[in-house]
Amino acid sequence: MLYHSTRNKNHIADSAQAVLNGLAPDGGLYVPAVLPEVDVAACLQESTMDMAARIIGAMLPDVPDMPELVRRAYTGKFQTQELTPTVDTGKFTVLELFRGPTSAFKDVALCMLPQLLTRAKTVKGMQEDILILTATSGDTGKAALAGFQDVDGVKICVFYPDGGVSKVQRAQMVTQEGSNVAVCAVTGNFDDAQTGVKNIFAAGVEGRLPDGNRCRLSTANSINIGRLAPQITYYFKAYADLLKRGQIAMGDEVNFSVPTGNFGDILAGYLAKKLGLPVGRLICASNANNVLTDFIRTGTYDRRRPLHKTISPSMDILVSSNLERLLYLMSGDTELVAELMGKLNTQGSYTVPEELKNAIGEEFWAGCCDDAGAGETIRKVWQEQNYLCDTHTATGWAVAEQYVAESGDTRPMVVLSTASPYKFPAAVLSALEETTQTDEFRQMERLEQLTGVPIPENLRGLEQKKERHTGVIEKDEMLRYVMEI
Ligand SMILES: *Cc1c(COP(=O)(O)O)cnc(C)c1O
Repeated sequence: MLYHSTRNKNHIADSAQAVLNGLAPDGGLYVPAVLPEVDVAACLQESTMDMAARIIGAMLPDVPDMPELVRRAYTGKFQTQELTPTVDTGKFTVLELFRGPTSAFKDVALCMLPQLLTRAKTVKGMQEDILILTATSGDTGKAALAGFQDVDGVKICVFYPDGGVSKVQRAQMVTQEGSNVAVCAVTGNFDDAQTGVKNIFAAGVEGRLPDGNRCRLSTANSINIGRLAPQITYYFKAYADLLKRGQIAMGDEVNFSVPTGNFGDILAGYLAKKLGLPVGRLICASNANNVLTDFIRTGTYDRRRPLHKTISPSMDILVSSNLERLLYLMSGDTELVAELMGKLNTQGSYTVPEELKNAIGEEFWAGCCDDAGAGETIRKVWQEQNYLCDTHTATGWAVAEQYVAESGDTRPMVVLSTASPYKFPAAVLSALEETTQTDEFRQMERLEQLTGVPIPENLRGLEQKKERHTGVIEKDEMLRYVMEI
């Protein structure tokens, strides 16, 4: 199946090559030339793993043995066989995406990506090892490390800002086991770490390594179509659950509210709709970094604004890379996308044509919620629905409420839950009670005692686990570090 760049239809690659390349050569993202057909009715009858094999297999048909890859990716790694369970809270349905090995929604995609990459490598006869380089502000690093641990033919190196991630997130990363992993702190902030990684790519490391050590550099971030495709599955899974519970009949439309950062998660929902799932509105929920709210409401994307640090850090983002895919999918116009992305780069903003703005507005609705609102929502959802949610999920919930109040839409609403509340214990605990506790591990214990919701196993034992990666380097030492490993 052919993919091409969002910026130029002549930059083509089959689906296996698109997974290997990550980014198209002109800096655009790969999009399918024609969307595949999926038998929706059959899909909705299947187990989550069979659904995943069917959907990912349809999106990436040049990567063979999909049922086998899916089994290898997920078996034994998630808390439940259904991977992403739903909970009917009595108000909204919550789709729990955080039941994987690192308690983050990114596990759904990052367990699958290594399988896709290694199989694509075989199909394309690629000999060299792949070195995954990732700068992380917290969640992606651990999920990628866990996904790539001991995968043959791939090494992974994660850089995080020293002092810039939470104590739990640091503990998750520095205790990572595996013979092919490296983790290192960098003096500076997330941007310094990310710039350092970009510089390593630009330095052409691949050509400078001695023969026998040749490798190809790649990344694990969400611009890779191999990360996006696995995320389509859970929209089908949630719909199937509502059917099973008799809350909808086949064909009824369901709305989804998605806490959004890089626009990957919500774009997967749009793709699910394009594949035939009866999706109503997709609600794009942001925190105080509301660049997407403004865009969807006005048609102008403007990143020239300060970045706020919030209690939902995985959504602290000013440039949502996957929005570029939506602009193409809704306009079909690569020249327009190239022009808009050029403007974003040079001027920091762009405005889409009125027609495109209106088309986006029919599929999406956007809102935002600040830290105080998220905290208030955590408390209210706990008191009224007896459901404990994290800060990102609370943002999705609050914006779903705004949407329902403003539109009067009565279709069922599914709120995507992207993290375990125990990944952000300080913010969640202080939403429920006044606390002077500053140690994150004690906060977790207190939260468990207060709510009775169990701490996930992968987070519980963390404090006792051996620290394996304690290095801290300056940002100009990153290239040397990578050459050494
Ligand atoms: C990455 C992440 C998001 C945002 O997802 P996108 O696909 O980048 O929009 C939301 N919540 C959590 C907890 C995340 O880790």
